[in-house]
This record gives sequence, C-alpha cells and structure tokens, in this order.
Amino acid sequence: MSSLPLRVCHECDLVSAVPPLACSESARCPRCQHELMARKRAPAQQSLALAIAAVVALVTSLAFPFISFSARGIERAISLTDAVAILSTGNYTLLAVVLWMVLLLLPMLYLGMVIVIHTALLLDRRPPRGMLMLRTLRHIEHWMMADVFLIGVLVSLVKILSLASIGFGVSFWAFCLFVVLMLLITRSVDRDWLWQVMAPEPTPPAHATTGRTAVSQKLAGCPVCGTVNDYHHHEPCYCRRCGEKLHMRRRHSVQKTLALLVVSVLLYIPAMVLPIMTVSSLNETTTQTVIGGVLLLLDHGDYPIAAIIFLASVVIPVAKLLALFWLCIKVGRPQPWRPEVRMTLYRITEFIGRWSMIDVFVVALLAALVQLGVLMHVSAEPGIIAFGAVVILTMIAAMSFDPRLIWDAADHADLEYDVSDKNDPEHDNISTFSLQPVVAGKAQDMGQ
Ligand SMILES: [Zn+2]
Ligand SMILES: [Zn+2]
Repeated sequence: MSSLPLRVCHECDLVSAVPPLACSESARCPRCQHELMARKRAPAQQSLALAIAAVVALVTSLAFPFISFSARGIERAISLTDAVAILSTGNYTLLAVVLWMVLLLLPMLYLGMVIVIHTALLLDRRPPRGMLMLRTLRHIEHWMMADVFLIGVLVSLVKILSLASIGFGVSFWAFCLFVVLMLLITRSVDRDWLWQVMAPEPTPPAHATTGRTAVSQKLAGCPVCGTVNDYHHHEPCYCRRCGEKLHMRRRHSVQKTLALLVVSVLLYIPAMVLPIMTVSSLNETTTQTVIGGVLLLLDHGDYPIAAIIFLASVVIPVAKLLALFWLCIKVGRPQPWRPEVRMTLYRITEFIGRWSMIDVFVVALLAALVQLGVLMHVSAEPGIIAFGAVVILTMIAAMSFDPRLIWDAADHADLEYDVSDKNDPEHDNISTFSLQPVVAGKAQDMGQ
C-alpha cells in the first residue's frame, strides 16, 4: 500500500494517488483532467497580502463617488452605497439585496475569513472556528460576481453615453483593482495546505484502491477537504476530518435539476416578454424588454455591446437550459457522445452561467444612477426580477446536477477509462498522473 495521499475526483469519481507536488504544480485526474490538488507558492503570505489589499480597494470603492453623470446642465455623482440605498428606497428591494450581497456582504465575508485564517496560521495559532470558515470559503466561492458587475457597469455606461456625459470617480478605479485582486485571491488560496495545517489528513481506508471509482469501493471523497471516507448507506455520513455531509451521488440530483430547469423555463417567458426597464425623459417614455434593449443598441451602432448583451441574456440562458436538460435526460442511457465531451459541456455550462447577470446589474445601476426628476428617469420593471431569478435558478440547477452521473453509464459498461498506461499495475497500485504547472505565473510574482 502506498503512503501517497488519495483523492476521489469530484467530477468523475475515480480514486487516484497524488504524488508529492512542488510549488506551482498541480495534480489532475487522469480520467477527466479535473484538478485534484494544487500547490501554491508562499500561500499564507500571498493570500493575506492580496486579501488586505482587496479590503482596502473595496472600502475605497464604497466610500467615494463611483460614477458622475451629467445631462442638460444637471450633474449627478453616486457612490455604490448610494446606488444600493436608492434601489432599496424605491420599489426594488430585491435588486438592492442582490447588489448588496454581490458587492459587499459576500466579498467581505470571504476576505475576512481569508485574513483571519492566514493571520492566525502565520502566528502559529489555530484560527477560532477555522474548519467552519474553510468550509464556508468553499461554499461561497461560486457566488463572487464582482467581475460580472464590472462588465455590467461598462455596458450601462455605453447605454447612456448618447444621453449624457459620464465621468469616472476614484471608486470606479478602486473597484477595477478590487476585481483583479479577487481573481488573484481565488487562485492563491491553497485549500489543501490549509486543511493539512489545520487538521492533518487521516489515513485512507485500507481497502481503498486507485484506478477504480469510489462508488464501487463504498468510498466517498469529501468535496471540501478531499479526505477519502468509508461510506455507510444506512445513516447520514459525514467527513471524519471536517464534518461536511458526504454523498456518494447527490440525492435526487436529476429530479432536483429538472425541477429547477422547469421553473426557469416558466420564468424565462415573463423575463423575455415583460419590460425590464422604463426610460422617461421630457418628451417621451419608452419601455424596454431584453430583446428591445439589444435592438436599441444595434440602432445606435453599438454592435459589440449589443452582441455581449444578446449573448449574455439570450444565448447563454437558452443554451444552458438546453444543455442541462440534455445532460439530465441522457443520464443512465446509452450515450451517443463520449463522457469527456459531455463533461466539457457541463463545465462550460457551469462556468458561463453567472455572466447572464450582466443585464440585471445594468438595470440596477441605471435605475440608481439616472434619477434626474422630470428631465430623465430610469426605473426597473418586473421583467428584470424574472430574468434575475432565471439566472440564479439555472446556476443552482447546474450546481445540483451531479457530474459523476455522466461517467456512471460508461463505468457500468465496463470502464471505458484505460489504465493500461500504469507502469506496473500489479506492483504499484497507483494510477498515472499528469503533472501540470499552475497557469497563473502572475500569482507567483504577487507574493514575493
Ligand atoms: Zn476525474
Ligand atoms: Zn472533509
């Protein structure tokens, strides 16, 4: 039995052994290429420095004017906190809540935990409630949307550029810096190292064998800390290292995903038919639907922005709904495509989903910014709430789909996966690995 740590791939369920990794190296699943473990250079110092810088950038971006807007002799400058306040005093409490979560609550929670954990570890202490914080970090990572918001800001500006002149405040640039820092932080946090320092990994069950699926050995890999656990069917099963609830397969994954998809389709109809915003000025009042907004941009000759909005608001949600429906229907049936192809489809679906929030942010920002009384006034309409709900529900649908189901049909038809490239499978029971350097060379430089 090898003493190398074992990992269960969260996407295809294959059990593999991870060889020792040097800085900036990562180990990928030999079957589906999902990243199993990655070593970061100076993870504590780097993450701490980035997180402190990000908090400073975020506080700066909330404290000063974000955008100034002048039309017909009236000038108006708003900060991000003003934008949220304006939305919450109007009839847009839901939009205000979404904006507040995305801009402040979740990033602050995330950064606060990164700072507390890494400071404690650098001082050779165990952070209080460290395991709970590490688990929470993992769960809220998907909901960081500062980068999507920034694109939403740029699109809103293009939309009102023909009506008014725009100026960027200090906060806007601070927010751009914050977006870059957030991207770097999510790459610099070395989860595996953090778990190892907090709670050394227990030895895997003696019967765990590499090159086979976990389900076939009654094992379950922890989705949060990576530990390989024995799985007992008769009772709820929890990770023996971090306490996370374990599932061999997410329960009723296909049914839950399908239910969420059906609701999304039903909401997509009002999202497309109902107006998303009303623009009132001295001489006219126009209401815009999602498609109407795209056509208006085309009319003004803003082709790239029209393409972005069309892609984000129409193509991506529809493609995502169709892809998830197709994946759900095909689970457990003879497959026309190889699992690798379906896996790529699933990963793309999961990755692009949040970008559909662009239009929601555009309307929220315009409704907060363009408030010049009778001169010009933008208000949000019910269509945008339906649209936001579609985006969030399809994101949850993608998360509730269990990608391991894609591989199960192939596994039942006798493993398609070829483990023949092992040097000596009888002698050393470890499947092969591709060691790949972590792509972000930038992340290395930041911590120096
Ligand atoms: Zn895999
Ligand atoms: Zn765990």
